Amino acid sequence: DAYLAAIDAANPALNAYVAVTHDKARDMAKASDARLASGQAGALEGIPLGIKDLFATEGVHTQACSHVLDGFKPHYESTVTANLWADGAVMLGKLNMDEFAMGSSNETSYYGPVKNPWRAKGSNADLVPGGSSGGSAAAVSAFLCAGATATDTGGSIRQPAAFTGTVGIKPTYGRCSRWGIVAYASSLDQAGPIARDVRDAAILLKSMASVDAKDTTSVDRPVPDYEAALGQSVKGLKVGIPKEYRVEGMPQEVEALWQQGIAWLKEAGAEIVDISLPHTRYALPTYYIISPAEASSNLARYDGVRYGLRVPGRDIVEMYEKTRAAGFGDEVKRRIMIGTYVLSAGYYDAYYLQAQKVRTLIKKDFEDAFAAGVDVILTPATPSAPFGIADQDMASDPVKMYLNDIFTVTVNMAGLPGIAVPAGLNDRGLPLGLQLIGRPFDEETLFRTAHAVE
Ligand code: GLN
Repeated sequence: DAYLAAIDAANPALNAYVAVTHDKARDMAKASDARLASGQAGALEGIPLGIKDLFATEGVHTQACSHVLDGFKPHYESTVTANLWADGAVMLGKLNMDEFAMGSSNETSYYGPVKNPWRAKGSNADLVPGGSSGGSAAAVSAFLCAGATATDTGGSIRQPAAFTGTVGIKPTYGRCSRWGIVAYASSLDQAGPIARDVRDAAILLKSMASVDAKDTTSVDRPVPDYEAALGQSVKGLKVGIPKEYRVEGMPQEVEALWQQGIAWLKEAGAEIVDISLPHTRYALPTYYIISPAEASSNLARYDGVRYGLRVPGRDIVEMYEKTRAAGFGDEVKRRIMIGTYVLSAGYYDAYYLQAQKVRTLIKKDFEDAFAAGVDVILTPATPSAPFGIADQDMASDPVKMYLNDIFTVTVNMAGLPGIAVPAGLNDRGLPLGLQLIGRPFDEETLFRTAHAVE
């Protein structure tokens, strides 16, 4: 009830939730009370969570914040949310996001932008919460849920976490089932939690992760007790600092944050080593070929027949055209056009195939660093602090918006786990985050190192 009241009071201004499930939340909480009374409590018994609108929730608004999915209420539950409910968690509602998870500012949502609960000192200007999981990050940061689900294709968990002073982890590809999560770029998409601290993130990920026969890319490995890893010291851990992440035009405050993180880990007994990830500069262009290619294929299913919106036409082809023209926003259309272009017969080899080869090289850079003994890699999470809503620079040039993902997309392309952890405030009082990148399925080292810097 306290969380629902807080949402009702704050959400009209923040726009973090696109649907609040009051009745369902109370029913689930009552069932939780009954389990607690009978001594059958699960690991998340009674914990109220917000769910990104990308996760299918049975009988509840699931629209990936797109007009094309108007009215869609699935008759099934995503595996990740089913895991959370099985452990006793309570659903508060569905969280705002960039349309189909395409964006870095939560401004492409059909339901309008989310406001970052943070403001710069002495300023009243609204800031973006990051994206695409902007609603998840804002809701956690504003205490409108105890934790939230999110997804990350190129940074959508880590960048909004960094912009809101929260913790977000994108686990290894395959750690969580993608079943029942609206697909953006299937070879890159992963679910993970956004939480208020590293411990909460560890507890939530333990519950979300599972192998699943309905997602053949989910991996059959035991899910460790991540919380137990927090107590371990980082003494002797080898922390790699990749020189290629010192990008042109990086603000001094981000460089200073990075140095601060290095100093903290050194103090805690970690060994700091300089490393090179030479293909980093190709990561962004490669990502913006592969992800739209997969998106253009995944989004072909929104045809006005099976889901959501239908705009009638004289015949079925015109119905498809009108539905898709009206249903998708500009950024989604841009991605579909890029994607179909790079996959088309004349350009496939030059763009898509080439990008896949470069992706392999990016992955190999990380493999080489880990083979040389590096345990974890430390970088800034984002190249800047949160920027203003309707920022002119970003709005007029989509490529400037894409630059937000410069430190995060490599991790998805290599399938590795990455965590964003708050590391302090800049001069204007805005949160900045550090990123830690680990070996495949070594989320434990990430949690333990993040706990040392939080
Ligand atoms: N900002 C990136 C994009 O727009 C990443 C989004 C995501 O991780 N879902 O594609």
